[in-house]
Amino acid sequence: MHVYVSLATLFVLRGEKLPRWMRRVAYLLMDGKCVATCAYCELSGAPVAGERVKLSRVTWYKVDLREIVSALSEFERVCIQTVIGPNMGRKLVQLVRIIARVNPRISVSIAVAGKPLLEELRDEGVETLGIGLDAATPRLAMKLGKPYPYSLYMRTLRDAVEVFGDRRVYVHLIVGVGEKASELAATMRHVKRLGGRIALFAYTPSAKLGGKPPSLCYYRGAQLYRQLLDEGVNPDSYITPSPFNPQGWVLKRTPPLEIVERAIVTSGCPACNRPYYNERPRGTLYNIPWEPDKREVYEALEALRACGESNYSNLVTSI
Ligand code: SF4
Repeated sequence: MHVYVSLATLFVLRGEKLPRWMRRVAYLLMDGKCVATCAYCELSGAPVAGERVKLSRVTWYKVDLREIVSALSEFERVCIQTVIGPNMGRKLVQLVRIIARVNPRISVSIAVAGKPLLEELRDEGVETLGIGLDAATPRLAMKLGKPYPYSLYMRTLRDAVEVFGDRRVYVHLIVGVGEKASELAATMRHVKRLGGRIALFAYTPSAKLGGKPPSLCYYRGAQLYRQLLDEGVNPDSYITPSPFNPQGWVLKRTPPLEIVERAIVTSGCPACNRPYYNERPRGTLYNIPWEPDKREVYEALEALRACGESNYSNLVTSI
């Protein structure tokens, strides 16, 4: 059986010396052509058959599972990204069964799944589940060419929370694909009410969709909102969507620095840090894959404050 592994994972498997934080999660991608047509995804419509493929900013390399499986025990977690295609469920169960023999901390990222498949995955050893909702609203999901109705993603979320338990299901949301801050906030609250958690991604421009990545202040606002919600604090007492700028926030009061620190770290399953998945190593990091230092925390706070100021300049220019 073949799978793809991310470049960083390949380096670790080859025994290259990398910082500890780059060796936390083995990221695997299932082999096979994805039949979905999501406009923001480089895999959509591409034949996943070559020796390497591109997903977001990351290149993935085809490997023989037998040759790497024992080395997967070295990682804190193994994350399997799925594609949509014939017999995906069967192939996934088989893959999980093999990996669970060497590493019991397995996450699977899927689009939608019925309850029997979710139960089978749990019984084979999957510990946490990611759901690729990606779009913050049903309207946007349709516009972006998501393969299933929005209601099916929500049903998968409800079923998955029942199967895996509260706070073990992570809904993937992409920031900057055309949603408003208010829509993002409402969807995050809805997911939380259903017992799920959020993993945030910054939009990386695709050849098909074009556009730009989100502004840093917009992304930092989404991260702070997510973190406050996740820690059981009412986010709206610190930050709310801007009434003047659809991709802006208003920082109402300064949040505790330790919450800002946790907010800017990559969000998702335990240990998940997706190094440089959305950004160049030398550019601004949307998701910080290590424990941030003081400078990074203060810069994040500055970005959040700047977001408020840019709202007012938007207002002034529109008068
Ligand atoms: S949050 Fe991270 S580890 Fe969990 S499913 Fe998503 S990408 Fe994988």
